[in-house]
Amino acid sequence: MKKQIEKIMSPPAPHMVGDGFRVHNFFPGPHGEMTRMSPFFMMDYNSKVEFPASEHQRGVGVHPHRGFETVTLAYAGKVAHHDSAGNSGVIGEGDVQWMTAASGVLHKEYHEKEFARVGGAFHMVQLWVNLPAKNKMDPPRYQAITREQMGKYFLPDGKGRVDVVAGHFKEIKGAASTFTPMHVYNLYLDANAKIDFELPEHYNTGILVLEGNATINGEWVNQDHLTLFANVGTEIAIETTTAAKLLVLSGEPIQEPIVAYGPFLMNTKAEIIQAYDDVNAGKFGVLED
Ligand code: MN
Repeated sequence: MKKQIEKIMSPPAPHMVGDGFRVHNFFPGPHGEMTRMSPFFMMDYNSKVEFPASEHQRGVGVHPHRGFETVTLAYAGKVAHHDSAGNSGVIGEGDVQWMTAASGVLHKEYHEKEFARVGGAFHMVQLWVNLPAKNKMDPPRYQAITREQMGKYFLPDGKGRVDVVAGHFKEIKGAASTFTPMHVYNLYLDANAKIDFELPEHYNTGILVLEGNATINGEWVNQDHLTLFANVGTEIAIETTTAAKLLVLSGEPIQEPIVAYGPFLMNTKAEIIQAYDDVNAGKFGVLED
């Protein structure tokens, strides 16, 4: 049975995160639907935008996180990262940075120096992936996943490929290690491509069209729109008339209470207060601006 489409969302009005990310927040959104896409708590979508050349590296300065993972997927431009657990890296087109904040890190995220100096197209997604209560206070972890490391599924007719970031696509395994079951794919399709796959009925599922447009389960979806599926049916069929790039997210919901405040995502208000106390006590480590 075809997976039923609940709605096709147009990109909400953008806002700046720091001075380096111009994002459309698809969820949780103004109505705070915090569990609708669980385990994916938040999606900030930096649709493709040109940044002018700058000696200053635009971005977001040092800030803490606890209780979840920040996952940054790059499609154009380069983003750099440093955190108080001692991890750092640069990701570019097709790469993913999967940072598990868990018990807590300070980090900063900004345009890579050479990209900033030259300027150009910048196109990214940042997800906040929730952690189950039992893993919220695990040690931090950092996975730099280049597109070469991702599992690859090639369409039999040669009209595109799937980069498997996490989970699996048919028999092809993803590169990321995750705490709860999920599938994350980048689809790179040529014009007149057709691809079919299945995702579990109870997994919360969304597909973002990053470039071009696509027909998804019979519905025409424009660039920068998010297709949100109801938890009914398993089959997805995508067809293109133009070249298209899509991000597929599908995950088993985490059935636990959520209290979200600022950069923290916990189960109770007391844990949020504890997070602020721990940051103020220096327990998240040290990171220079
Ligand atoms: Mn952050």
